[in-house]
Amino acid sequence: MAVQALPRDIGWIEVVCGPMFSGKTEELIRRLRRAAYARQQVQIFKPKIDTRYADIEIVSHNKERLAARPVGNADEILEQLDPRTAVVGVDEAQFFDHRVVPVCQQLADRGLRVIVAGLDQDYRGLPFGPMPELLAVAEFVTKALAICMVCGNPAGRSQRIVRDGGQVVLGAEEAYEARCRRCHKVGEEPPQQPRLL
Ligand code: ADP
Ligand code: MG
Ligand code: ZN
Repeated sequence: MAVQALPRDIGWIEVVCGPMFSGKTEELIRRLRRAAYARQQVQIFKPKIDTRYADIEIVSHNKERLAARPVGNADEILEQLDPRTAVVGVDEAQFFDHRVVPVCQQLADRGLRVIVAGLDQDYRGLPFGPMPELLAVAEFVTKALAICMVCGNPAGRSQRIVRDGGQVVLGAEEAYEARCRRCHKVGEEPPQQPRLL
């Protein structure tokens, strides 16, 4: 049995996590495009976080975009799965409930490559939704960092910079910025979770 660095003939889970603006969506798009170049069938899913908004693509802050299917819950990923699909991308995974974990496991067990991007921490710096579990079961984990908008250090947190938290905020730049642990301040913000692009 030859030792091999990368999985072959089996599925696996990759997680790309980090704060807002750290390049999670950019990295997800990069990996999915490369899979498509290799003529692998790719499907991309994202949670329907705003039903008024027919959001059929994932978009990074630097305007890269790829077509994606919005789903109301994680089990819909299984329902909408094309049998030819070899690679599944999931963006904004923090907004799914914990069912996303067995769903990703099932896909990987079936032999698919599953690439999941999401916020590992909410605006308070606390673990976000199902992300800790996804990180625990993944074969490959990438922690992306942004640049702190106050001091320029590597930034692992998302600072809410608006007090008006009662409304859904879809344009991320006006409402959040990347901060390092020293510049990140908790406690003055309204008690909502971040909403992203
Ligand atoms: P994420 O999905 O993690 O929110 P995106 O992939 O959408 O991130 O966007 C990453 C891009 O955001 C970077 O390539 C850069 O152009 C831009 N950007 C804006 N603010 C920052 C910041 N504070 N640190 C790093 N990149 C930033
Ligand atoms: Mg993103
Ligand atoms: Zn800082």
